[in-house]
Amino acid sequence: MCMENLRKRKVEQAFIEHYGNQPIIWVQAPGRVDLMGSHTDYNEGFVLTEAIERNTWIAARPRQDAVVRVSSQNIEGGAEFSLAVISYDEVSPWSNYIRGVAHILQIEGYSLNGFDGLIHSTIPFRSGLSSSAALEVATAMLFKTLGDLDISKLDIAIYCQRAENEFVGMECGILDQYSSAMGKEGNVLLLDCRSTTSEVVPLAPGLMVMICDTKAERELTGSEYSERRADCEKGAKALQTAFPEIKTLRDVTIDQFEAQRNNLSEVVAKRSQFVIEENQRVIDMATALEVGNFQAIGSLAKASFIGARDLYEISSPEMEAMMAAMSSAPGVIGARQAGAGFGGCMVAIIDGQKTVEFSKYVIEQYQQVTGIMAEVYQASASSGAGVLKF
Ligand code: ADP
Ligand code: MG
Repeated sequence: MCMENLRKRKVEQAFIEHYGNQPIIWVQAPGRVDLMGSHTDYNEGFVLTEAIERNTWIAARPRQDAVVRVSSQNIEGGAEFSLAVISYDEVSPWSNYIRGVAHILQIEGYSLNGFDGLIHSTIPFRSGLSSSAALEVATAMLFKTLGDLDISKLDIAIYCQRAENEFVGMECGILDQYSSAMGKEGNVLLLDCRSTTSEVVPLAPGLMVMICDTKAERELTGSEYSERRADCEKGAKALQTAFPEIKTLRDVTIDQFEAQRNNLSEVVAKRSQFVIEENQRVIDMATALEVGNFQAIGSLAKASFIGARDLYEISSPEMEAMMAAMSSAPGVIGARQAGAGFGGCMVAIIDGQKTVEFSKYVIEQYQQVTGIMAEVYQASASSGAGVLKF
């Protein structure tokens, strides 16, 4: 609570300096981490996900005209635009996440209120914890609050995904926005990305989720993400010829895949195999986490990492070094990648009594191998987006 007040005071001070007046509405939207289910979301599959304590705040003050002015404490350059004409911003590209949300909400018929806003986030950019979705979802929550809009949290998730797909131009699945909007304090969500519904999975007592940030970032707007997406679509399409009921890789059983494997190119076969197996691991991990089956948590997480490395090819030398450090650390139960891969954060499930020893060991081991100072911290499951009341 103390930290939160300090953060509030700093943001409030900066807001007053910037806009000459006090903010009167505060909203937050969290980042997220996946405990199982890499790249399953755009295949309409399952993901085990939780919203985390790291989040994005927007402090705001409504305006009487239809203008939005925003700046961020995490990045240079402000932006100003009229809600009457929203165009893509090449100068401050980060503002496109905000513009995109406004654009989609207006297409959906919502009447929006202008505001002055200051953003402050504790989610690192491009490290797999989904800072972009948190910014979008916080923006939607702000418009909802300012205009008293009748819009559900699920709709917020769907519109924010559309903003990222259609306005920003990143073909992400629903995972990030869903987790940020719908997170449940103290619980992991088993998300079905086809029906966009989720079940709550309570973690067995004594387990703790740790985020291990490799601090090795890589741009994902490059071709890797869309190539993998396209390979999955090719896989599903080819398998459809033999099994017409298949719409996406989510529908494919491992037996169906094995029967048709030779009709797929080597790369498409590898990508498809990973997604089909990863999807099953999500279901299995949900049970393992709930009953506290340590052996299963460990082997599922390890298989996920091996698949990500060898089949989906989204690993990196830093991720391998981190995997080695996490896997041999005191208290570890399971360890794997998180987010889209290519560096960024990884995730471990550990004995909640061993957080200090685990963190110290991982940081030391990883630094010895890579020379990089990692960041390791607890990730308690947090609530989804909402209005902040102080
Ligand atoms: P990720 O979502 O994994 O963190 P992305 O590349 O999808 O990575 O999104 C990161 C981008 O989102 C940043 O480069 C920036 O443009 C925008 N962004 C996220 N959070 C903020 C923030 N607090 N202030 C300004 N821009 C932000
Ligand atoms: Mg993102």
